[in-house]
Amino acid sequence: MDGITLKCNFSMVFGNGISNKITNMKYIFSLAAVLLAFVPVFSQNSDDPFEVYNVRNEEDGSAVVYAKNNYLCDESVYIKFTALKNMKADVELPFEGVVPAGAKEFKLFTLTIKDPLKGSQLGYITSYCHGDIYNTKHDDYAYTIPYKEGESYSIGQAYGGKFSHFMDGKTYAVDFTMKEGTPVCAARDGVVIFIKDDSDKHGKTMKYIDYGNYITIYHSDGTMADYFHIKKNGSKVKEGDRVEAGQVIALSGNTGWSSGPHLHFQVYTFDEDMEVKTIPTKFKQEDGKRVTLKNSKEGYKSVH
Ligand SMILES: [Zn+2]
Repeated sequence: MDGITLKCNFSMVFGNGISNKITNMKYIFSLAAVLLAFVPVFSQNSDDPFEVYNVRNEEDGSAVVYAKNNYLCDESVYIKFTALKNMKADVELPFEGVVPAGAKEFKLFTLTIKDPLKGSQLGYITSYCHGDIYNTKHDDYAYTIPYKEGESYSIGQAYGGKFSHFMDGKTYAVDFTMKEGTPVCAARDGVVIFIKDDSDKHGKTMKYIDYGNYITIYHSDGTMADYFHIKKNGSKVKEGDRVEAGQVIALSGNTGWSSGPHLHFQVYTFDEDMEVKTIPTKFKQEDGKRVTLKNSKEGYKSVH
């Protein structure tokens, strides 16, 4: 252990909605108003990974609303109508639902015409984010401490840490102090949905925030985990890979907004406003015990 004081700030990315991460990947919050008063058919026409579109039946004027989801994880979608004239939906509005990963033509609902002799109009705003925000009962999974079995590393900052883990979007995060190149293991089974490992820069100010490398893994309960600050070219997995708890996924590093080598780990989902909400988790210990990790010089042994 090198005893470096940790200053992990990467998750300002979450709290303040800054950095190119927003446009590139996870905090995508799309606003798309579609007005279709006289357009008979509107179907998917963009390269966006996620899209809500509708197909109108020219004969009776009804419309079926679909979604496509080219992300590797499920997407939660919220559709609010700004106009709905002479049409009714077969579901409750505003619409809330989850579109499975990879879905191409996922039917959300149908709108039918009330009075065929009158004109109709529809318009809506779509918001979406990664994971299942409508599943509020996140399970009581015992996570694997994310490094090799039997090893221990100091915890420089735990839940609610005074340096940066008290802020929104990173409240329930843990910083493990570890030398660059230490193998990082998956804390839970899941699918690798995002990887960035092309940076070798780090610094103590916020301007380095976009240089942080990371891996994001999507879990079966609709939550995700971030493994942050990993080494340049340090990923041992590919996007789309299924990983198991305990599997080596990366080598740790010191990239991004960080003043010393460490691994920042957090599990999160999004709340109803589609803001990042970190989730407190318990970690597996010997004899089936579970522990909440606290600041600790000697750290905790990882039990696989
Ligand atoms: Zn941290």
